[in-house]
Amino acid sequence: RRQALAQYKCRPSETRDGHQVSIRANVGDLNDVLRLTDTGAQGVGLFRTEFLLIHAKQVPTEQQQYQLYCDALHSLDGQVLTIRTFDIGADKALPCLNQAKEDNPALGLRGIRYSLAQPSLLQPQLRAVLRAANHGPIRLMFPMLNQLEELELLIGQIELCKAQLIEQEKGFGELSLGIVIETPAAVLNLPSLLPLLDFVSIGSNDLSQYTQAVDRTNSALTKNFSPLSPPVLKLIAMTVECCKAQNKPISLCGELASDPKLTPLLVGLGINELSVTPGQILEVKAALCLGEFGGDSGFYAHGKDALSKSRMLDLAQCVSDYNQ
Ligand code: PEP
Ligand code: MG
Repeated sequence: RRQALAQYKCRPSETRDGHQVSIRANVGDLNDVLRLTDTGAQGVGLFRTEFLLIHAKQVPTEQQQYQLYCDALHSLDGQVLTIRTFDIGADKALPCLNQAKEDNPALGLRGIRYSLAQPSLLQPQLRAVLRAANHGPIRLMFPMLNQLEELELLIGQIELCKAQLIEQEKGFGELSLGIVIETPAAVLNLPSLLPLLDFVSIGSNDLSQYTQAVDRTNSALTKNFSPLSPPVLKLIAMTVECCKAQNKPISLCGELASDPKLTPLLVGLGINELSVTPGQILEVKAALCLGEFGGDSGFYAHGKDALSKSRMLDLAQCVSDYNQ
């Protein structure tokens, strides 16, 4: 299988009828990035930077983060590095931070809520990212963002960090700015958010959790946690429609993207980029290359990894219900 897949490494990332979809990698540290060479990944679609804190005794300094992001860019050799700001809170306990206990942490101070409450954590990260952007293409995205007021505060923080860097006579580059869509509120508010954004990435793991009110970490609820349930798919379809209307690229970085059986569905829905677990890159690329997009009317997969016809029809029905 490995040998059969190897042929896809250098193939263009497109369907048989020439529809292009980028396939990028989800990473958690610099070693993951260094291992991407020769995997066929077109850069990094999600760097979960809070993983840098999991075993750390202290939060890495601005300079340490800057160096790490520069090393990652160097290894990517011109391909994009998508950095997600620290997604702290919920299921991620970090010994190096003094996190207050919360009764309901999944609905608590997590993602950008934590970052906005702790500028001493956010600002060094923003400055490190801005400085690294002087050395290669960086996209920055914010997790758990629901509404315009939050985005405006974060953009204010970026502007403040730029002013600080000018004062310190440190160079910085321009960032592409995005958010991770993780809640129904973010989907519903997207028309007002998009004018301030360069791209959007769907975090289908949390989008499923918050749409269905099912704790993604609770093993007693595994059966209830389905990122393929119609409401979640409808929200994905709404996100795509909204991005298309405002001509913004749309990525998906949750676990759904790593399943080659779902590549036809996600590409058929109009997703432009899939960010996947590194070990699945070639499986997903093979599924993409074996399929035909079939224009705006749909996606028809070929090969044994295709979705079964009945499942495809269920999903198509759900999407077309939404479109009516
Ligand atoms: C997601 O929620 O889908 C996602 C990509 O982020 P994480 O799994 O790190 O919460
Ligand atoms: Mg998430």
